[in-house]
Amino acid sequence: MVGDAPSIAIIGAGVAGLTCGMKLAAFSARCTIFDKGRGLGGRLATRRAEGGFQFDHGAPYLAAKSANFLALLRQAEAAGAAAPWSPEGTEPGFVGVPGMTGLAKYMAAGLDIRKGTRIEGLMPDGEGWILQWEGGERRFDIVILTTPPLQTVDLLPDEHPLAGMLDAVRMDPCLTLMVGISGEVDVARGLTGGSCEEIAWMAKDSAKPGRPNARCFVAHASTSWSERHLELNLDEVAARFLPMVLARLDLPETYAPAYVSAHRWRYARASHPLGQAYLANDARTLFVGGDWCLGNSAEHAWESGQAIAAAIGGAIKA
Ligand SMILES: Cc1cc2nc3c(=O)[nH]c(=O)nc-3n(C[C@H](O)[C@H](O)[C@H](O)COP(=O)(O)OP(=O)(O)OC[C@H]3O[C@@H](n4cnc5c(N)ncnc54)[C@H](O)[C@@H]3O)c2cc1C
Repeated sequence: MVGDAPSIAIIGAGVAGLTCGMKLAAFSARCTIFDKGRGLGGRLATRRAEGGFQFDHGAPYLAAKSANFLALLRQAEAAGAAAPWSPEGTEPGFVGVPGMTGLAKYMAAGLDIRKGTRIEGLMPDGEGWILQWEGGERRFDIVILTTPPLQTVDLLPDEHPLAGMLDAVRMDPCLTLMVGISGEVDVARGLTGGSCEEIAWMAKDSAKPGRPNARCFVAHASTSWSERHLELNLDEVAARFLPMVLARLDLPETYAPAYVSAHRWRYARASHPLGQAYLANDARTLFVGGDWCLGNSAEHAWESGQAIAAAIGGAIKA
């Protein structure tokens, strides 16, 4: 290691990676977070579109089971980056403000984050690692991967022992549809939740706090419908999904919304999680984490990120 604190790279600026970054900053660690996306938050995702439309097309809201995760959400609320909201009949929850990514931006404050940088390789270098991306590379003492399991396996060096430990983890896909409605059409006011064979979830996003007025709906296809249609191009997904959503909104099949777009989450939520908060190599210079380690919610991602940072931070302090 160079100097007192190890240099640390975190791959992924979703909840797990940002949690790690926040907690490691408290240990004065030198941390850099890389994400291939143009924005922050990973599956906490918000899309804005012409016409004043705005959609949370990943996680629609978050619930907290532990007091510490609730404390983070309450702090974000106090800072104007989150607000209480949950579908009727479910546990109390929160949404990011002005969109779900608002929470990620709150968590990212003060952290060194390189957006738009897809990590393509990870090479052992003495006790550390060389990270490679298009047009660059850099050495770090410790690397933390918070990418979904299959992408993690792709990044690990060939035949790395951690790769085999991820074999049993399964992530379900989810196709989502974003629908923006303008004009004088009468549509359901506060529609949330509900499930049928094809649609697992549907919400009026514009009914969430701090959103623009334009009427926006997000629907999640069921796992089985998503699996059956996963490889279609997104225009085709939208064409097949839209009639089901219009039916739920009591709109005629011929109605043409102002905005329609589909999104493919190939790795949306874990159906078979790993069963432990993270994995690490024997030298504890390579850590692997994310929601899929413990479950399928943002709180699980937060728990995994916390556990990795505590393990590394404990070693820094010692
Ligand atoms: C449709 C849907 C509905 C959901 N509903 C809920 C819900 O109601 N409640 C709830 O709590 N949770 C829900 N979730 C799950 C929640 O969004 C996740 O548990 C949580 O956001 C995962 O965080 P993470 O940091 O583990 O992973 P991610 O958010 O996936 O972050 C991983 C990051 O790694 C980046 N990355 C990947 N490969 C590379 C690479 N090679 N180089 C650089 N960066 C890379 C990605 O861009 C991404 O930003 C839902 C998710 C989806 C998709």
